[in-house]
Amino acid sequence: MAHINQNFLKLPGGYLFPEIGRRVRAFSAENPPKSLIRLGIGDVTQPLAPAVIEAMHKAVEEMGRKETFRGYCEETCCAYDFLRFAIRDSYKAAGVEIADDEIFVSDGAKSDCGSIGDIFGLDNVVAVCDPVYPVYVDTNAMAGRAGDYDGEKWTDLIYLPCTAENGFFPALPEGKVPDLIYICSPNNPTGAAATREQLQMWVDYANAHGSVILYDSAYEAFITEPGIPHSIFEIEGAKTCAIEFRSFSKTAGFTGTRCAYTVIPKALVRDGASLNALWSRRQGTKFNGVAYVTQRAAEATFTAEGQKQIKETIAFYLNNAKVIKEGLSAAGLNVYGGVNAPYIWARTPEGVSSWDFFDVLLKKACVVTTPGAGFGPSGEGYIRLTAFGDADATVEAVERIKDIL
Ligand SMILES: *Cc1c(COP(=O)(O)O)cnc(C)c1O
Repeated sequence: MAHINQNFLKLPGGYLFPEIGRRVRAFSAENPPKSLIRLGIGDVTQPLAPAVIEAMHKAVEEMGRKETFRGYCEETCCAYDFLRFAIRDSYKAAGVEIADDEIFVSDGAKSDCGSIGDIFGLDNVVAVCDPVYPVYVDTNAMAGRAGDYDGEKWTDLIYLPCTAENGFFPALPEGKVPDLIYICSPNNPTGAAATREQLQMWVDYANAHGSVILYDSAYEAFITEPGIPHSIFEIEGAKTCAIEFRSFSKTAGFTGTRCAYTVIPKALVRDGASLNALWSRRQGTKFNGVAYVTQRAAEATFTAEGQKQIKETIAFYLNNAKVIKEGLSAAGLNVYGGVNAPYIWARTPEGVSSWDFFDVLLKKACVVTTPGAGFGPSGEGYIRLTAFGDADATVEAVERIKDIL
């Protein structure tokens, strides 16, 4: 008889988004509302840039001719040189030297963050920030590194609280030393972006203890403040202790197009083995690359025209973020994020829980948000709003919230 991976049975059922959906449906059925405005979505809504579409059309035509047709990609790391070189050059322009064979192109940062555990032993101690992007937690639970779920936390994970009190950046842990440390900056869900000093502290810690930092910078393109690092590799010593995940999803609206990349420096060695070589072996075995058309689309985001267009879209989202942040602050809430990220993280009024505040905003303002408690115990007392909506609807949602507070 075949046996299942018992760790899957320990996973709590998908709770957050199904529960939000249930409450929204129940409310809409009872009181057909004036239009519901969704500020809970974590997906982009603006179309792909014209430069990207043009590159895709051209690539499709190439696929239709025998002379230019492409099958399996035979080039390094399952990615075409044109894309890896463009990524390498974009790092270089930002002052970071990355070799092209340190760049692995994939179909998503979610898959890479989730699969990276393949190259690490099951006995590693894992630390996650709290609140957290659930992928880091659930994939380690599936692998058996998280222990058991006690209704609030996993018994074997180290939770690093990120709250207003510590500026939403984790302090170094006191007891047990983690081997794998997930850091997401700019952060989903808090919208906080780590400073150079904060990242240096973790890089020094990881180098001192032989830990590895798994750095998710899916939102780096949203950084507006000068001096905030876009890459962990801007930090002295990071190449011997960090892996970086980036994605075209939020940067260029590729959530439905699918392209991302992971950087593993060749200087990153554990147990005498190169993690770059292990990941290359893992990808070569379990992955056959990203569609040629998609890689051409991703390449187009690095051209002058592509850069201009994707920056306009990011500016559009960041303007929504500003509207939300200023509006909710004016309404008396304590509001964080929204400057270097498309997420706004708002403190609920004194004594009101995340889910209760979610219900108030849904029922009185017809605005859908995301309760912070859904991202981990330290998210209790906060709600997340996103800047991915339409501009008019965002203004309207903020007006409605102001009216009821
Ligand atoms: C959206 C998001 C990603 C991107 O995932 P893709 O699979 O590349 O679409 C990665 N990390 C975080 C924290 C995200 O919110």
